[in-house]
Amino acid sequence: MEGTVIAMHGALVRVQVGDETRVVASRRRLSWEGGAPAAPRLVVGDAVVVEMRRDQGVVVAVQPRRTSLLRRAPGSGRAQVLAANVDQALLVFAARQPEPKPGLLDRFLVACHVAGIEAVIAINKIDQGIDQVEQWLPAYRRAGHTVLLMSARTGRGLGEIKRRLAGRTTLFCGPSGSGKSSLLNTAYPGFRLKVGTISEATGKGRHVTSRAELMPLPYGGFVVDTPGLKEFGVWDLDPSELERAFPDIRELAGSCRFAGCSHVHEPGCEVRQAVEDGALAASRYRSYASILDETSGRT
Ligand code: ZN
Repeated sequence: MEGTVIAMHGALVRVQVGDETRVVASRRRLSWEGGAPAAPRLVVGDAVVVEMRRDQGVVVAVQPRRTSLLRRAPGSGRAQVLAANVDQALLVFAARQPEPKPGLLDRFLVACHVAGIEAVIAINKIDQGIDQVEQWLPAYRRAGHTVLLMSARTGRGLGEIKRRLAGRTTLFCGPSGSGKSSLLNTAYPGFRLKVGTISEATGKGRHVTSRAELMPLPYGGFVVDTPGLKEFGVWDLDPSELERAFPDIRELAGSCRFAGCSHVHEPGCEVRQAVEDGALAASRYRSYASILDETSGRT
């Protein structure tokens, strides 16, 4: 029978098969249909084949992944798939507290671009005030990204979230304390997720979602709630691919003096000029340069 991995518990795998949830084992040597991927370990969202061995279900094979959101695992430096087969990613940041980090957002956006996953920027807790985020959000709108403004507290933007989530598999990503779980709980009352509260004293979000989990939504569709991410290492990519992930930089690149300009040291670089003129956000350029530096040393 076929199913979808909804959670991993050490050696055991929770699989949705039709309307039922089963806890099954996994064969040590899985058969990867279409060839083994970069990170050949079962993850949430994988479509699997389960066989019955005596009374015990065992995952024996994995279908090719439609999409896989990859990152460099903190510590080990190996490729890690956050989730398989998601259609879109909602990147949730708080308007003020915890302070949103455009550098982290840029990394998410690059990983989504590489994976072919539509990325939506969701600014939550706008009841905290949007003056600060509105200083850097226009750069993202200009680059063609969708930006949603919302508040789980006032209910603003929740209708839009529900429309976007219906019938699709959506990955929720964001730093802890950004209010991902509250957004889901408020949009879908009765849909229970553990919600952490930010300690007023430290401003640090308490770590609550311990691992990625796939959950069915009341009106069709699934969400993958991921642990609050502090850092995001972009997995290897070609430098030209990186430029494609920054549409605002790509647009300027055509006017650089040299074809194939890396926008780091070449003379006559329109991208660096645009940063100086204030036409390109310095934080976008910093993200581009730091990801380029990080990935080019390894390819
Ligand atoms: Zn250039």
